Amino acid sequence: MKKQFAVIGLGRFGISVSRELYKLGHDVLAIDINPSKVNEMVNDSTHSAVADGTDEKALRELGITNFDHVIVAIGDNLQASILCTLLLKEMGIESVWSKAQNAHHHKVLDKIGADKIIHPEHDMGNRVAQHLMSDKVIDHIELSRDFSIVEISVPKSMNKKTLAELDIRAKYGVTILGIKRGKNINISPAADDILQQRDVLFVIGHNNDLKRFEEST
Ligand code: ADP
Repeated sequence: MKKQFAVIGLGRFGISVSRELYKLGHDVLAIDINPSKVNEMVNDSTHSAVADGTDEKALRELGITNFDHVIVAIGDNLQASILCTLLLKEMGIESVWSKAQNAHHHKVLDKIGADKIIHPEHDMGNRVAQHLMSDKVIDHIELSRDFSIVEISVPKSMNKKTLAELDIRAKYGVTILGIKRGKNINISPAADDILQQRDVLFVIGHNNDLKRFEEST
């Protein structure tokens, strides 16, 4: 279903979020205070506009209150990021996701009601570290402090075995959410599905259990 997103702040993060949402077929309003940033987005957004994200009148004139989702991707200017997030929540925007620069910034955004706080550099750093730590882990998504989803290649030891034979949930306490084979993803794996060596597993669980599972494979 087509959704309406507004992205305020078109640095590297804001631009990549806007482009991806637009590519996925959604309506995207891309806003920045800097006209050259806005020009860059003319062909990669539904509408683009030069405006100050801390100017309530300008935001209202752009019809920001009609958007269900607004992403505040203002980077270095903490004051502007905080004020913009506060204004959006005060104007009644349902879902405001804001990018935080550091832990203090995160705390303030949380207090003023940001619905999700994103740390792109920190999250990417974690993922790269997880990837480097294990040659089997292709990707790692942190769900909370203790729980994650990992994407892991099927090792030789599991080749041609069924999920029932491997009994992964009972042995490790982790759950296989899906199996990727080439371009296809099986999102409801059955007990008699047979794994092949080039498959990729999506596994959810407690970080300790996931680690045990990775190490055993
Ligand atoms: P990144 O780390 O994602 O590249 P930057 O800090 O480089 O982030 O970019 C943030 C963007 O936010 C810049 O393009 C900047 O012009 C924009 N910006 C800064 N303050 C405001 C504001 N008050 N209103 C709208 N956009 C802003």
